[in-house]
Amino acid sequence: MEFGRKNIKRNQIQEVWQSYCRPFFLSIIYPHFCSLLMKNLASLSTLLGAPKKVAIVTHFKPDADALGSSLGLAGYLKKKGHEVNVVTPSDYPDFLAWMPGAETVTALSKKSKEPEIRATEIFNRADLIFCLDFSSLGRIHELGEVVRKASATKVLIDHHLEPEDFAEYVKWDVKSASTAQLIVELINELGDQALIDEPIATCLYAGLMTDTGGFRHNNTTAREFKVAEELTSLGANPSHIARLIYDTNSLGRLRLTGYVLSQKLVVLPEYRTAYMTLSQEELRQFDVQTGDTEGLVNYGLSIKGVQLSILMYDRGEEIKISFRSLGDFSVNDLARKYFEGGGHKNASGGSSKQSLQDTLKRFLDILPEFKEKLINNS
Ligand code: 5GP
Ligand code: MN
Repeated sequence: MEFGRKNIKRNQIQEVWQSYCRPFFLSIIYPHFCSLLMKNLASLSTLLGAPKKVAIVTHFKPDADALGSSLGLAGYLKKKGHEVNVVTPSDYPDFLAWMPGAETVTALSKKSKEPEIRATEIFNRADLIFCLDFSSLGRIHELGEVVRKASATKVLIDHHLEPEDFAEYVKWDVKSASTAQLIVELINELGDQALIDEPIATCLYAGLMTDTGGFRHNNTTAREFKVAEELTSLGANPSHIARLIYDTNSLGRLRLTGYVLSQKLVVLPEYRTAYMTLSQEELRQFDVQTGDTEGLVNYGLSIKGVQLSILMYDRGEEIKISFRSLGDFSVNDLARKYFEGGGHKNASGGSSKQSLQDTLKRFLDILPEFKEKLINNS
């Protein structure tokens, strides 16, 4: 057969892109491009040399890394004399409300339009907008277009795969376990370590601790411990922070965990996969609050032999899906291809506009495509 351009089918082109070009682009070209942008550290430093109006925004339903890196950066920039506002596109979990500065956050809410109006004002009058712990503007929902159109200079600091190109300054590193440690490294690069006080160190340590799963995930390296050591010596208290985050449950949250593990956890040994689903009615029954489902998906992955674990729950407006995997199996690819999501290779999120049953059916229908990879995964 003659090898000609017209003989290459569309899906073959996609295959070549997925298998060869995209990994090459993401691992070699893009980081190089980003580090080139960060050679502008000197110009960012100059920008931060005079008082500015700064907005900091992080992703929808922020976790401890999102909120901790935002509040840590906010604390630092305030000490440098800037006017700083932190915005979140939704509420944040109650178990993060102790974070120093959390009470000052403008959090969008379904109950009132007022925070959204305030957030829009904050972005429109900002000189600088820092976008933390997310890589595409879709992750901040309706605020995405406000940020895109704002005249402020944008700075993206993140560690998720495949970032969108919208910011003038980019500090992006997928090898970094957390956004919080990128903030620490940036503060150090700016020569300002002395400005990291106990509240700032505490917020940043919380982000680093949770995104490494308490220093247990395979993203934990000497680099993470180095930052942890630095933050601890600057005032973060590891056992206190761990207690506030991991050991401060509501009874409802614990009961929900018990219910999911005893009634809702399904294992498919032939796919080395575990899944759990929660309907709106079940969420109501356990009075589930923002953040209460966090961590549930990891239990599936703790079963011997399981390589892929999934949690799906019905948020009302959409089905939210959490994906976790071990080793080489990329849930980023799975979430991106089928569930409008992404994240990291071993921890991603996604969503679906179908019903919970149809979303589960869709997942079960596509599983055979991944069977071989799952069986051979290590
Ligand atoms: P989680 O399952 O804990 O919500 O999220 C796991 C990881 O995937 C986190 O790093 C989170 O930021 C990212 N993530 C969660 N949901 C989405 C999504 O809908 N789209 C993308 N691109 N990333 C997500
Ligand atoms: Mn993160």
